[in-house]
Amino acid sequence: MAELSEQAFDAFLAALRRLDYTGYAEQHPPFGSWQDFGRQGAGIKAAWGRSLGLTKEAGLFVNVPFCRARCRFCFLPVTAIGSSGEKRTASFRRYLSALDKEAALYAPLFKNVRFSTLYIGGGTPSMMTPAETREFFALLRRRFKVSRSAQTVLELHPDDVTEEKLSAYTDCGVSRVCIGVQSMDAEVLNANSRRQGLAQVAAAHAALKARGIGVNIDLICGLPGQDRASFLSGLKKVIKLGPDQVHLNTFINTPYTVHAMTGGKAGDERAVEALRAQGFRLLARAGYLKIDSDSMGRTKESRNRQTTDLSGRRSVLGLGPGAVSRAFGAARYINRAGWDGWLARAGSGLCPADRGVFCGPEDEMIYSALTKFTDEQAMDLAWFRRVHKADFLKVFAPEAAALKTAGAKLSGGKFRLPHNMWGLVRRLFYRPDVIARGLANLKRVRRPGPR
Ligand code: SF4
Repeated sequence: MAELSEQAFDAFLAALRRLDYTGYAEQHPPFGSWQDFGRQGAGIKAAWGRSLGLTKEAGLFVNVPFCRARCRFCFLPVTAIGSSGEKRTASFRRYLSALDKEAALYAPLFKNVRFSTLYIGGGTPSMMTPAETREFFALLRRRFKVSRSAQTVLELHPDDVTEEKLSAYTDCGVSRVCIGVQSMDAEVLNANSRRQGLAQVAAAHAALKARGIGVNIDLICGLPGQDRASFLSGLKKVIKLGPDQVHLNTFINTPYTVHAMTGGKAGDERAVEALRAQGFRLLARAGYLKIDSDSMGRTKESRNRQTTDLSGRRSVLGLGPGAVSRAFGAARYINRAGWDGWLARAGSGLCPADRGVFCGPEDEMIYSALTKFTDEQAMDLAWFRRVHKADFLKVFAPEAAALKTAGAKLSGGKFRLPHNMWGLVRRLFYRPDVIARGLANLKRVRRPGPR
């Protein structure tokens, strides 16, 4: 395959990002290069067998796919079920039953694994009633061993906090929540069909901290209808609360947002990035430390271990609609993301995988390189040796030489980039077969949408 020019490669990356409905567009191998995994149940089992031979360090990710209503900016394949009534109750009943069947498929493979992190994402997991929450955690602990000290994170809507739910979270071992605040501006929230009380954010933060539960707050920069003043004043209000971690996402107008489906455009990408950078400077002035490319925390320990420790020797088993699994050194795959598609498979005791890719230890080295160069603009050579039992500068000699030409330098045991070189590092490190598969997917399936 002929090498892509810089410009063509940037266009390729942008097209891959547009295919994404997972948030995993930029991982390695990137989502756009994955293939149909609908019939790969046996291959997935074998991949986990290989992977658990390489490492037993693993986290569990469970996706709860429901929301009350859909926010216009959201690209995730969530299902809106309202806040009460038979539809809500029946949906959760069917979900918990199918989730138990999916967990049962994996339980024998993981019988010698003690999960060290647990992340409950969504959707809106905090929509579960206290009884549903207890049932949810009980089924996971019945099927899997979870370490007593496992960091257990749950995503939460600020309006959902009640004393009964907090008691359920404490009893079920929830040690941290991510409050999806997104914006502190009522006009922006209304324009994006997001129902959320602003006073509830402070109340939720205080109630969680009183229970000793860590708090992350997520905001989005570049939302439709949001201007500079709105974003910065919202961030200042959040900083005043003093959460353990603040996550600044960028609004990505994939074809799966209601905003895009109704003809809405995203703001200028560079202006949004500059505003987000200003947000990070505000956080730094308030004493927050950089955790990764999207978040800052009060201390380095304020991080979500499951999402920030992935560049090491670690796997994640994903359950639920749209959950992504990462079998270290062996595979990546995503479950069917649509509620009906996942339910049809998982509810019948069948593997609900949809798209994926088999990979090997070399891909993990590439994954580490891309993650470290994106998040820290540097590779710690001793860390790389410890994780991969290999010398970074030897394994990636041509790539390191090209980065040196672009200004990278070796100092203090780290190979450092002069600034963020997001596109260049991907152009250097993506393997030709990954690019070829990505290009073929772009031609064949312009939008491998959730099913
Ligand atoms: S942003 Fe959160 S609450 Fe809104 S639709 Fe997406 S997952 Fe649901």
